[in-house]
Amino acid sequence: MSTPALRIYNTLTRTKEAFSPIDPANVRMYVCGPTVYDYAHIGNARPLIVFDVLYRLLRHLHGADHVRYVRNITDVDDKINARAAERGVTIRELTEETNRIFQADVRALGCLEPDVQPRATEHIAQMLAIIEKLIASGHAYAADGHVLFDVPSMPAYGRLSRRSLDEMLAGARVDVAPYKRGDMDFVLWKPSKDNEPGWDSPWGRGRPGWHIECSAMSWAHLGETFDIHGGGIDLVFPHHENEIAQSCCAFDREVMANYWMHNGFLQVEGEKMSKSLGNFITIHDLLHTETFGGRKWPGEALRLAMLRTHYRQPIDWTVKALEEAESALRRWAEFVRKGETTGDSGNFAHQFAAALADDLNTPLAVSLLHDAVDPAQLDAALKLLGVDVRKYSDWIESETRSSVDVTAIDALIAARIAARAAKNWGESDRIRDELVAMGVVLMDNKDGTTSWEMKR
Ligand SMILES: [Zn+2]
Repeated sequence: MSTPALRIYNTLTRTKEAFSPIDPANVRMYVCGPTVYDYAHIGNARPLIVFDVLYRLLRHLHGADHVRYVRNITDVDDKINARAAERGVTIRELTEETNRIFQADVRALGCLEPDVQPRATEHIAQMLAIIEKLIASGHAYAADGHVLFDVPSMPAYGRLSRRSLDEMLAGARVDVAPYKRGDMDFVLWKPSKDNEPGWDSPWGRGRPGWHIECSAMSWAHLGETFDIHGGGIDLVFPHHENEIAQSCCAFDREVMANYWMHNGFLQVEGEKMSKSLGNFITIHDLLHTETFGGRKWPGEALRLAMLRTHYRQPIDWTVKALEEAESALRRWAEFVRKGETTGDSGNFAHQFAAALADDLNTPLAVSLLHDAVDPAQLDAALKLLGVDVRKYSDWIESETRSSVDVTAIDALIAARIAARAAKNWGESDRIRDELVAMGVVLMDNKDGTTSWEMKR
């Protein structure tokens, strides 16, 4: 496939810009990962899929060995502590189990593994080092066992979210505390009680605030500044604003990352997803249970449905969209399996790559797939989107096989082979008709064996 120039929409400048990495031989991307205390919901799947497509595209454009993708795992958080206590398990048991489920979900969605998946609890030393730098340079202060970032010490604070001071203050006043000098100051480190996880620090035994984790892990694995920082739009303020404040002030840099990318919100059947509305769906439920649309869905359909909407637009997650994605998958799988070119493909490959390179215009890229005439090109294009039609076919095969009585089918096939060997054609035909009525398609092989599949 040809290599068009990548342009991406940068939240920092609110414009689409030509992508120019600091070091083209080592493109660096950081995406905020999960807090591992519960099943990831389908809204969480959106950044996983979107930034996986970007990762694949960057590897395509710069070479697979020249892109470094870091997605963290937050394994220290008050939500984790509360859930572990509630369930009567240790924090380690909870985070390990949740992470295992998360990794399985992400694999089923067709995402490549990031180059590094750092854990917060393994980067406490880097967090402490950043906090000490911030105190030394007058951007943070210790008070009452806490360390806080001094927001007024950074004139550029608010540049990413472009929120007015009043808006930011209104949000910050929810969390007033006597140890804060300014209302907007946020926690870098806080004291831990004996029953809470904690690490020794110059300010007593404690644990990190959430924002400091990402500054520490991106620094450890990508350096003081890097190319792309991604996440959901809900992270712009305060999380990403605070990451920028910490990293830029600790390392005395103008920028933390040059390009900030954010995916839009997700709704379910036109409504905000929430536990109280009863429309809260997890990736695990969609894949393994019959809670959405009364059936299980293959990971490939979830992925394709997600990519039919541009990543910056809000997406409405519906049964209808999943059905449409699946019918496209079925057609493409059949077309790739047959392997017959049906016309002149023109500059399909170039147009497809160009659509993706234009700020990941996946809706345009997907619409081009419908007109593909060369199965090999279609397959290559789908790979760039991370959609594997063979995996989809295997899923269909195993689902249909698990819904039929394989033992009974095998017994009938054996009886038919015996009837044919005895030249009892009437019996052989009767058995074949019985199998056809069950939806079984027989294929008599040259070696005398018979294979079968379910009619699609
Ligand atoms: Zn983060």
